[in-house]
Amino acid sequence: MLRPILADLHIHTVLSACAEVEMIPPLIVRRACRLGLGLIAVTDHNACANAEAVIRAAEGTGLAVLPGMELQTREEVHLLCLFDTVEQSLAWQAEVWSLLPPLENREEFFGPQYVVDAEGQWVRTEGRLLAASADIALEQAIARVHALGGLAIPAHVDRPSFSLLANLGMVPANLGADALEVTARFQPEAGFAQWPELRGWPLVVDGDAHTLNDMQNRTLFKVAAPTVRELSLALRGAEGRKITVDWHPTKS
Ligand SMILES: [Zn+2]
Ligand SMILES: [Zn+2]
Repeated sequence: MLRPILADLHIHTVLSACAEVEMIPPLIVRRACRLGLGLIAVTDHNACANAEAVIRAAEGTGLAVLPGMELQTREEVHLLCLFDTVEQSLAWQAEVWSLLPPLENREEFFGPQYVVDAEGQWVRTEGRLLAASADIALEQAIARVHALGGLAIPAHVDRPSFSLLANLGMVPANLGADALEVTARFQPEAGFAQWPELRGWPLVVDGDAHTLNDMQNRTLFKVAAPTVRELSLALRGAEGRKITVDWHPTKS
């Protein structure tokens, strides 16, 4: 049976150097439940290590959590990579890390990168620089994510940096992405006028949350379950599945 599920598919934790210290599993889950979300994805920069802790923190709440990553490609384009299982996400992380420059994070400059448990307690500090580009082209990354059974969605395409439209200037033909993500500031009338090629794409709105307050509840999936396969059907409008975006929310 199909049911409506509100989703925010782009949430950072304290593993992202730029995220606030409040972005720990129990607080993310509590905020998601308050927003009425049925699905979130954990998408740290080039890393997946905190996804399992958020999944565990959500147990028993009814909130589904997809393990994911926000990859930074060779073109400095950000790409959401979403999976069903932690194993898939860690396989992808291993592949991405083999393509990242072997640099140390400069904590005083970029901020710390914390791995935490389901309660949000410190487990370890990730020393590798995660805020860097992996040596993989965007289209190639999308194909690899698909080969691993995941969804690939270019992030915040309307942002003036680290985005498909800013860095490539267009949506390439045969991109192969499952959808495009726009920011919470995107206004359809002005946005479609500026980038007419967005009209043909399924669009999702996420929070790109670096603070709890950034989280959004504006993308509604009608699916049988919060899985990659069902989301993919919804993004294609297939088998009765669909997405609806609330473009004009009343701020809560
Ligand atoms: Zn980003
Ligand atoms: Zn992000």
